[in-house]
Order: sequence, then C-alpha cells, then structure tokens
Amino acid sequence: MMSRKRVLVTGGAGFIGSHLCERLLAEGASVLCVDNYFTGTRDNIAHLLAHPRFEAMRHDITFPLYVEVDEIYNLACPASPVHYQFDPVQTTKTSISGALNMLGLAKRVKAKVLQASTSEVYGDPEVHPQREDYRGSVNPLGPRACYDEGKRCAETLFFDYRRQHNVRIKVARIFNTYGPRMHPNDGRVVSNFIVQALRGEPVTIYGEGTQTRSFCFVDDLVEGLMRLMATPDEVTGPVNLGNPHEITVRELAERVIALCGEDARIEKRPLPQDDPTRRCPDIGLAKRLLGWEPKVPLEDGLRRTVAYFDALLRRPETAD
Ligand code: NAD
Ligand code: UDP
Ligand code: UDP
Repeated sequence: MMSRKRVLVTGGAGFIGSHLCERLLAEGASVLCVDNYFTGTRDNIAHLLAHPRFEAMRHDITFPLYVEVDEIYNLACPASPVHYQFDPVQTTKTSISGALNMLGLAKRVKAKVLQASTSEVYGDPEVHPQREDYRGSVNPLGPRACYDEGKRCAETLFFDYRRQHNVRIKVARIFNTYGPRMHPNDGRVVSNFIVQALRGEPVTIYGEGTQTRSFCFVDDLVEGLMRLMATPDEVTGPVNLGNPHEITVRELAERVIALCGEDARIEKRPLPQDDPTRRCPDIGLAKRLLGWEPKVPLEDGLRRTVAYFDALLRRPETAD
C-alpha cells in the first residue's frame, strides 16, 4: 500500500522534516518536500535528491499550493526561539496562512493532514506534567506569542476544517526534539551547548539553569508522527509526542560537557522573557493510541548528535 502513497512534507528540508522524508522513502512512499529554505538547508536533503521517489520544491506555504497527494505532514515553521522571533509576523503567517493552505489542499484532494503543533501551546505551564486536556498558559503579547498563538490558531483551524468540511486531521504536540541536522546557529539549547563545548567556548546557561525540559531523539519522534498518521480517521489528537525524561538545563550542560571531553566552562546569561520554567509531556495518550514511547536514552542520542556536530564543524565551509 505504502508504495503507492504520495506524501507531501512541508518543511522537509528542516531538522525533523529531513528525517521524516528519509523514513517515508524507506517505507516505500513517494515524497514531495516543500520548503522555502528559511531555516532548513539543501544540505539536509542532498543525500535524497537522487532518489527516484523524492522531489524537492522551493515554495513558501503562505502561498497556495496545488499538488496531488494522499498525505500531508505540515512541518513548515521556524522552531527555535531565535529563528521564530527573527521575523515574528512571518512566523504567524506561516502557522496560520500555511495551515489554511494545507487544509484547503487536503480538502480538495481528500488527503489526510497532520499538523506539527508544539508543547508551546501550553505556554509556561501551571500543571505538571502536561496532558492534552490542559488548556495552557500563554502570554499572548510576549516575544514567544508569534509562535505559540500561531500554533494554537493552526490547531483551531484544523479542528474547524474537520467539523465544517470533514477533513481527515491529525494534530501532534511535539516536545523538545534533538538530533543530527539541528541547525548549528539556531540558538536551541542542545545545539548551542554541543557547538560551544566542541569549540572550547563557554557553555551558556540562561538564568540559573533550574528550568527543565524533556528531550526526545529525532528518530523516536518521527516514529511517533508516522504512527499518528496511520491511525483511523476518528483519531485526531491532539497527542503529545515527547520524551517524559525531564532534566534541568544545568544537568544537560554537565552531560554535554562530559561527552564532548572538553574542559568547558559554564557561563550564566540572562533568562529570556517568558521562558517556560518546567516542561514534561504526559505521554499516556500516545502510549494508548499509538503504542508509542521513546526508545533512545538521552546519553545515546546526545552521543549521536555530538558526532554529527563534530563532523560538521570540521568541514571547512562551516568551521567558523
Ligand atoms: P526547522 O526550522 O529545522 O524546520 C522547519 C522547516 O520549515 C525549515 O526547513 C524551514 O526552511 C521551513 N519553513 C519555514 N517557514 C516556511 C514557509 N513559510 N514555507 C515553507 N517552508 C518553511 O525546525 P524543526 O525543528 O525541524 O521543526 C519542524 C516542525 O516541528 C515545526 O513546525 C516546529 O514548530 C515543530 N516542532 C519542533 C520541535 C523541536 O523541538 N524541534 C518542537 C515542537 C514543535
Ligand atoms: N488551497 C491551496 N491548494 C489547494 C486548495 C486550496 O493552497 O489545492 C488554498 C486556497 O488558496 C485557500 C486555502 O487553501 O487560500 C483554503 O482553501 P478553501 O478551499 O478551504 O477556502 P477558500 O478557497 O474557499 O477560501
Ligand atoms: N537555554 C540555555 N542556554 C542556551 C540556549 C537555551 O540555557 O544557550 C535554555 C532556554 O532558556 C530554555 C531551555 O534552554 O530554558 C530550552 O531552550 P530552547 O531554545 O532549546 O527551547 P525552548 O525554550 O523553546 O523549549
């Protein structure tokens, strides 16, 4: 069946998208990767370009897209705070107009459509761990709002297209994900710490480093997304996808320093506004609906990510 499936991945040249394209090809699908290369790179998909079932198209999803596909993974959106705050209006447009266009496309061609939503819909959460029925605590006026509110509105659009037009939707709320092909300059904590430690620069902890996150390795996340897409039509989500192993940012810094084998110093920097204090998914629903839970321990995932950045930093064009 899978060999006849035509799958559109928006944001396919990004970190998660490129891994998803790879897995879909391996499962026999035809893959159309649509990306405007804002934060993704052609390097991320260079190894796929010669594949007979892979096609890459430069396109901004805030504009309409007319293609014929069976499934749509809507991943296009800058994901790191540094990147999504660079042009916040475009971030909101990407989430909202992008979702509208993908839903309009799904409606016309009767495709299934999966939205890459985020744990940021919970804002700085007051309940812990976060379950899907928690409505969140987002500051609608702060610097993170372009991302958080854009993603919240995209979820609303998904559910309205289902109610109004019977579109087959799936919503995944993705928690912090890491792994090879993260952008070295995206400012996210895992990439920052590894790149800093490998370069022998101070590792920058924002605030006291007591804030927590729960880090999911990208292969686990991609497995969860594909399982969600494969569920029967009545399964819409939202479903949390993330690793419930919660650690402090300081602990992460110590682990990365230990792995990089450098005697890196830790340096404190101011905590950004609205930085969530604690974040950890309740993945009970994903376990029940998808039979899914993360398999890759943090230590293994970090090793693989360190190896990726180590090789990347040794390449002459990215060494500076
Ligand atoms: P990424 O920045 O590596 O990938 C996003 C991709 O979307 C990039 O290739 C970028 O060029 C592309 N893009 C951005 N705006 C676009 C537009 N208007 N039109 C077409 N392409 C556009 O980020 P990622 O970490 O791979 O995230 C992928 C998705 O998963 C995002 O929607 C993000 O919000 C979501 N997500 C990621 C995480 C995480 O921890 N990585 C957590 C929660 C949610
Ligand atoms: N759209 C698209 N590709 C399609 C069908 C629709 O990009 O194959 C866009 C369309 O341009 C519109 C959006 O999706 O901006 C929503 O489409 P819908 O048909 O739901 O709404 P309408 O066009 O009636 O506003
Ligand atoms: N962080 C940090 N140092 C860095 C980058 C990030 O201490 O160099 C912190 C950041 O303040 C946040 C956590 O690490 O508390 C995760 O940040 P990231 O940008 O990776 O993701 P998000 O805040 O969106 O979860």
